[in-house]
Amino acid sequence: MTTATANTPATHNALTTLFAAVQDAALLHSTANLLGWDQETMMPDGGAELRGRQLSQLARLAHEAFTAPKIGDLIAAAQEAVAGMPTDCADAVNVREIRRDYDKAVKLPASLVAEMALTASQAQHAWVVARRDSDFKKFQPWLEKIVKLNLQKAQCLGWPKGGEAWDALADYFEPALTAVEVTKVFEPLRARLQKLLDRIRGASKQPSNAFNEFALPVDSQEKFVRYMAKRIGFDFNCGRLDRSAHPFCGGSHCRDVRMTTRYSPTCVFDALGSTMHEAGHGMYEQGLDFAQAGLPMGSAAGLSVHESQSRMWENQVGRSMHFWKWARPQLSAFFGDACDHFTLVHLYQAANVVEPGFIRVESDEATYNMHVMIRFQLERDMLNGNVAIKDLPGVWNKMYKEYLGVTVPDDRRGCLQDVHWSMGMIGYFPTYTLGTLLAAQLFEKARKDVPGLEEGFNRGEFAPLLSWLRKNVHSEGRRYRLDELCRKVTGAPLSADPMMRHLEAKLLPLYGLE
Ligand code: ZN
Repeated sequence: MTTATANTPATHNALTTLFAAVQDAALLHSTANLLGWDQETMMPDGGAELRGRQLSQLARLAHEAFTAPKIGDLIAAAQEAVAGMPTDCADAVNVREIRRDYDKAVKLPASLVAEMALTASQAQHAWVVARRDSDFKKFQPWLEKIVKLNLQKAQCLGWPKGGEAWDALADYFEPALTAVEVTKVFEPLRARLQKLLDRIRGASKQPSNAFNEFALPVDSQEKFVRYMAKRIGFDFNCGRLDRSAHPFCGGSHCRDVRMTTRYSPTCVFDALGSTMHEAGHGMYEQGLDFAQAGLPMGSAAGLSVHESQSRMWENQVGRSMHFWKWARPQLSAFFGDACDHFTLVHLYQAANVVEPGFIRVESDEATYNMHVMIRFQLERDMLNGNVAIKDLPGVWNKMYKEYLGVTVPDDRRGCLQDVHWSMGMIGYFPTYTLGTLLAAQLFEKARKDVPGLEEGFNRGEFAPLLSWLRKNVHSEGRRYRLDELCRKVTGAPLSADPMMRHLEAKLLPLYGLE
């Protein structure tokens, strides 16, 4: 039998039979993921209608395969087989998590799963058109349908007493997360961030923003960000980088990771930030155990942990002075002498300038979480019926004024900017902030554990950080929940303190506020 925490393959007959059946069903999901990637990157417009049907069919087949009665019998037999094993050994974790997934999946009719997949594919296409034309009305009927289907899904799943529909949906992205818990984190965090933003707004010293408004050829930008992704550790033998309207990281398994980015002709940081972010997701996927592919021990812990990986590479690494000491001399290989008049300080300032804006994925570290809080509140309100879908643009714009003091100019830069709702994903957004908090907390610990970690960035040495993440996070699969993992690795529960320390240590000197 397996030892305490080794990821050795299952040897018991009941386990091997169950795991083979689950891996078989997961293959259908992984195939669907590739079609989803293709839809965002390569597919011609004409392919949209049939693609929806393809994805819907695969979702139905995967659901039927996973919820077949024989899987229930196999799980029961497997539970007996692991009864005497340590609860955190790989086999026991796989059985525990398969049971959890199964109990949820059997509550959903295959017809609803298929309809949601079809709707998501069609709605995504409608979203691209509506966003391009900056016209919410073109997306409104689709969002209405998505909210309705998500409510049906939540009703099927149910939620704990005192909870709400949002909780049932969020559980897919972050196990057991509830709106009440999110609010407990978000309310004090908003107050702390607001205080910091007020101080920054009143500062007399202003960092230079010039590099963020400096045109560089997109072809050269592409070569540059590809090089950066490779240097920080993304393995191009087991992954790709392409372009899409909304950067994301997907793919079919840890040896075939598909990430995307987008380019702004006037700001290389847009592509660099989103590429380092997606590469963080990609390296997490590549760090999962291939032998366990399709099983919980070969899957990511949840979206908050996923986001901690992307945000750490984007922020703690990519916006640091240490990183830019190494990165600045690299610019000439891609842009010639075009950037020579920008000093190291200019680049560091541009990477960290705080400026409340409309677009979440382009926002700075101090305002980022405000964007997330707005989305959390709105998706909760849409589900609970407190905001009618037709009123979304107006309510969105009002909240941007209130939280960030900005006037949203149009729907494209307002409520149409994110792809998530069009993909049917409601309950997802708070994982961005929880992941951002975890990133700061993990990084503080990595810095203690690995002497000279950041000084290594000065020389382009990122492998020590990646190895630390592989050992402490990637190899654990779904063994621990978010808070358990956080306590186990850092010795403390998840807290906003490390992120606030990170922001204040960087931004107060930058704005002359010390
Ligand atoms: Zn992300």
